Amino acid sequence: HAETDPYAQVEERDYEAALRPKTLAEFDGQPRVREQLALVLDAARHRGTTPDHVLLSGPPGLGKTTLAMIIAEEMGVGLRISSGPAIQHAGDLAAILSGLDEGEVLFLDEIHRLSRPAEEMLYLAMEDFRVDVIVGKGPGATAIPIELPPFTLVGATTRAGMLPGPLRDRFGFTAQLDFYDPADLSGIVANSAGKLGVSIHPDATDEIARRSRGTPRIANRLLRRVRDFAQVKGHPQAHRAVARAALELYEVDERGLDRLDRAVLGALCNLFDGGPVGLSTLALSVGEEIETVSEVAEPFLIREGLLVRTPRGRVATRAGYAHMGLRPPAQNPA
Ligand code: ATP
Repeated sequence: HAETDPYAQVEERDYEAALRPKTLAEFDGQPRVREQLALVLDAARHRGTTPDHVLLSGPPGLGKTTLAMIIAEEMGVGLRISSGPAIQHAGDLAAILSGLDEGEVLFLDEIHRLSRPAEEMLYLAMEDFRVDVIVGKGPGATAIPIELPPFTLVGATTRAGMLPGPLRDRFGFTAQLDFYDPADLSGIVANSAGKLGVSIHPDATDEIARRSRGTPRIANRLLRRVRDFAQVKGHPQAHRAVARAALELYEVDERGLDRLDRAVLGALCNLFDGGPVGLSTLALSVGEEIETVSEVAEPFLIREGLLVRTPRGRVATRAGYAHMGLRPPAQNPA
């Protein structure tokens, strides 16, 4: 399984790196974000300063890391990468910040998972390019200020709402990344196929795009499965039937629901009479982490109108029942 097998993870990273767009012009889709970000970067060039701090929010795989890399590339500066969970103590953050070179981009993934002291240190660093390192303990403790070179913080979070207000307010520019539409995904798949030297028919790129849950990472992943299938079965070009057969084999359905999505929706309909049921109970019933269900499966199911979040819990909609080939109970609340 790609998420747990370390070798598969390395392979996945290399594959993703090979397909990453390097410039804003190569970045497909998200026209508004692209335009706004271009303006932020142009303004910084114009003033001869570092760009404002940038907050990127949205579900996994929509291009947050890619955009952070693009910002550094476009500004011609270095990029450092870390993440909220990797920074346990404020001292870890102080070390990262004081090691930055002038103008560099610091990308902090999962910034909503920073510890409280690290977060407070970040406020000052973002605002005044300074950190106070506390030396000693108790009444003898003193704060030693350390000047930092100007830098641009790019923070990424799956949900901007989870960030404390004071942190959110310190970003000069916030971009909400949205799921991609099939036409953009089709373009991304075609580009990726070109980079990989895979011959693929436009019908097949459409088929992959439609089943990619609006997510470039998934589109690229499905392309890889289709490529493997075409190679092994001896098809010189991946056409629609090849794509369909490959995706069926990997349990990606017509609408792009994968095994987890179907498990969640299935449990909701079959075990809980369509809900309402609490998130943690639902996650437990499919043997998944709460975060995985709430940040990976749910946003997609909600967007497809198959599930709704209510104050009393998760509820399957009529469309959700229909998609699973089930009849909703007569008093289905959604
Ligand atoms: P996570 O938060 O889970 O790390 P992410 O939002 O940072 O996800 P990325 O790692 O940037 O996502 O992107 C995942 C993959 O999708 C990469 O291989 C990248 O090349 C591709 N990709 C993302 N956005 C685009 C895009 N707009 N155009 C082309 N490829 C894209």
